[in-house]
Amino acid sequence: MNISNISLKYSRVILKLSGESFTTVNNISNIDSSALFFLSKEIKKIIDLNVELGIVVGAGNLFRGKQLQKAGINRVAADHIGMLSTIINGLALNNSINKMNIKTSLMSSIPVNGICEIYDWNKAINLLSKKTVVIFSAGIGNPFFTTDSAACLRAIEIQADIVLKGTQVDGVYTSDPKKNINSVLYSRLSYKEVLEKELKVMDLSAFILARDHNIPIRVFNINNSGALKRIVKGIDEGTLIN
Ligand code: UDP
Repeated sequence: MNISNISLKYSRVILKLSGESFTTVNNISNIDSSALFFLSKEIKKIIDLNVELGIVVGAGNLFRGKQLQKAGINRVAADHIGMLSTIINGLALNNSINKMNIKTSLMSSIPVNGICEIYDWNKAINLLSKKTVVIFSAGIGNPFFTTDSAACLRAIEIQADIVLKGTQVDGVYTSDPKKNINSVLYSRLSYKEVLEKELKVMDLSAFILARDHNIPIRVFNINNSGALKRIVKGIDEGTLIN
């Protein structure tokens, strides 16, 4: 299908990239240059359409608080390590997008002087309106949260049209498609259905935040080339929750 004549459906979006998308399937290196190159190319496709883009980065490729806690580290310290890891991913992504001649700004919810800027709502909105990609790192800056919460929170703050959650599967399924080959992909769900069916879209506090502020969420496979571009043009891809 030739989509070049289709106009934009979403002009300001938050893209949530989990740590998994920074690495390879077998996690040979925590941050893989080919994965970064692929992500940056996908991002460029929507920047060329003048989409205002904020990106929230996760850190599952490096550290997650819950896993470190299992290894005996105090949960608060473990989450601090997780948040710092999102800054590391943010730095890598920032650099990779820059190489595509796209202006970016890396912001962190915790101060890391000399490495990136502290999150500033006003500044972020200003940059977005000037077509600078803003990368939001360090989650919301507090332990016991995830970067899904940061994605929904930042989306509400910057008045994004939608949260695009890039994952390693094609969307939301009736059950885990990696475990059950008979699971079926949903193309559309209401917030209520997600809660009633206990479907795993994102962690509950993040999801409730999106629901309460009526922010739609689209879950899609970030590895499908052109998916991001199709989505901002309103073409069905993955699962839409609204
Ligand atoms: N984290 C946190 N507060 C936040 C966001 C993240 O403490 O607001 C920590 C938490 O330990 C989490 C880790 O950072 O496990 C990495 O984020 P996340 O698990 O969301 O990464 P993803 O699963 O998206 O790769």
